[in-house]
Amino acid sequence: MRDISKIKRVVVKIGSSSLTHENGRLALHKIDQLARSLSDIHNGGRDVVLVSSGAIAAGVAALHLPARPKETAGKQAAAAVGQGALVQLYEKFFLEYRQSVAQILLTKDVMEHPVRRQNAANTFDKLFEYDVIPIVNENDTISTDEIEFGDNDRLSAYVAELVQADLLILLSDIDGLYTADPSTHPEAELIGEVKEITPEIAAMAGDSKSKVGTGGMATKIMAAQIAGNAGIDMIIANASAPGVLEDIFDGKEIGTYFYGKR
Ligand code: GLU
Repeated sequence: MRDISKIKRVVVKIGSSSLTHENGRLALHKIDQLARSLSDIHNGGRDVVLVSSGAIAAGVAALHLPARPKETAGKQAAAAVGQGALVQLYEKFFLEYRQSVAQILLTKDVMEHPVRRQNAANTFDKLFEYDVIPIVNENDTISTDEIEFGDNDRLSAYVAELVQADLLILLSDIDGLYTADPSTHPEAELIGEVKEITPEIAAMAGDSKSKVGTGGMATKIMAAQIAGNAGIDMIIANASAPGVLEDIFDGKEIGTYFYGKR
């Protein structure tokens, strides 16, 4: 069993592929389940931040585009359409569980600029005080190469650092880090815990990419590095495993656990 009694503040990141059906449209039951689990974690007395992808995926579905646009402007336009739709759905489901939410859109320069960073930190603090769950995404419409996080795995690690979270959970379409890519290496084994991100660990992640979102295992390892350097533990777990968040907060040893630097 893992000791989760020290976890007072948690950042949970969910990827686009864990919020959508195979055809790319939003999977309402998954959003509902997530809202319920996070509301319950919050009811248990913990501060919760949700970092949610899915704006582009929701926009692609709403615009009936045949595929995710490749060029930046297309992605930005899809995100502009989809972000509103996504947050509206979150609001609807969280409201069923009597949980208030807020939308926070960030760009990387906010993290690097002391005054903006402080403003963002103050906003998070106030929202925690007001018992609100902030829902964070990258501000895709204005994110260009110079100021973008690029993927929500790293964004969530920077957010965990900003709000001084005790734990970062990356919910994905895979059970955790494997010794090799399990889609091409059936003999690959799940790694239960990582004490240090060695070059061997980084190599296990390869450059595996997701079809629906932006990240893959490589960006998750980068997130573990950012969080770990800030002393924050991180878990990669499968979003589609029933009761995954409940299991984590019951101390069950699921997914891959990365220990932050002490
Ligand atoms: N910000 C993007 C979106 O909401 C997702 C980025 C990612 O998948 O990491 O669609």
